Amino acid sequence: MSRTYLDYNATAPLRPEAREALLAALDIGNPSSVHFEGRQARALVETARQDIAELVVAHPETVIFTSGGTEACNLALNLRQAPAANGGGKIGRILVSAIEHSAVLEAAKSSGLPAEILPVTAHGVLDIAALEASLQDQTPALVCVMLANNETGVIQPIAQVGALVKAHGSLLFCDGVQAAGKTPINMIAMGIDALSLSGHKLGAPMGVGALVTRPGVVVPPQLIGGGQELGRRAGSENISGIAAFAAAARAAKAGLEAFQGLAAQRDAMEAALLAAQPEVKIFGQEAERLANTSCFALAGLSSEGLVMGLDLDGLSVSAGSACSSGKVSRSHVLEAMGVSPHISKAVVRVSLGWQSHTQDTDKLVTAWAKLAARLDPKKRDVNLTKAAE
Ligand code: PLP
Repeated sequence: MSRTYLDYNATAPLRPEAREALLAALDIGNPSSVHFEGRQARALVETARQDIAELVVAHPETVIFTSGGTEACNLALNLRQAPAANGGGKIGRILVSAIEHSAVLEAAKSSGLPAEILPVTAHGVLDIAALEASLQDQTPALVCVMLANNETGVIQPIAQVGALVKAHGSLLFCDGVQAAGKTPINMIAMGIDALSLSGHKLGAPMGVGALVTRPGVVVPPQLIGGGQELGRRAGSENISGIAAFAAAARAAKAGLEAFQGLAAQRDAMEAALLAAQPEVKIFGQEAERLANTSCFALAGLSSEGLVMGLDLDGLSVSAGSACSSGKVSRSHVLEAMGVSPHISKAVVRVSLGWQSHTQDTDKLVTAWAKLAARLDPKKRDVNLTKAAE
């Protein structure tokens, strides 16, 4: 059976450009060596730094390569000084949005600083008034608000957040892992002080990412050893991963406009899902969303059952929130949006990407309608009553 992959927010298929760059870089030296092979490797890393900087409008020397998005987020949670342009104050607390990825939420909890959770609206957008109220406290804060949510695709009002954070002498860390290559990012215009990125969400392999900062942001190293990455992240660089990451970033940047076209395909899919089952609830639909993401639920079903049922039909989608064990837990994102447990346990996330076609979403709609039709409405009513108890 041919497979239809609709889980780009989990990981994007390897781009041919990234595969080619990866293979070519396997045969060069260590960028810390002074000989020819070393210089070749150094040139590759520095060109890659430029490619990543161009994707997010930043200065190349502020790109720190990491082992992926999680490491970049963890590194950002160590930032302890607001940039000079924001007053240069010492960070004494953390403000973190309720919908952050666990790489940010868990790192915030174990940072040693007091952490306050910022609420979101029912549409999954940061509550700006709550942020403003929290910023009244004089202690400079490390504010963590992601650019786009991995489950709902909802894009956050980062430029507005950036201006507020700056005006209050604080520092803005933005998890850009899902947004990069899917929506334009301009770190300077948006007032982002630090931004995390992950290669495999762009079509590079897993195991490479970056933390990008504004000039002057001091990054205390998490890994100590050699002086790589200007002393901000020790360890011989993952040359082939970095080469592939840069190639994927270039391809994603070139395809940014075409990517927005996925919104029409996604919207048509959502309309067809609603036509088949009017009770389908789509999350974040009223907010600005990534063009490729759709998160929906039909009360009475279970995410596991839906994901498995669709998998048997050759479709790869995910439950809104799968942890690394593959088990589905209740989504903290939907909980923060006020979605009740009996609905959030029935969530499916479809995420499209550079290889997606209309036939893929058509196939999803047909498979979905078949699954939904298998439901006995009476049985669904019983399930709903049980869930409400
Ligand atoms: N941040 C967000 C929003 C994510 O979606 C993910 C991965 O799913 C990460 C961080 C972690 O990235 P990585 O898988 O590269 O560690």
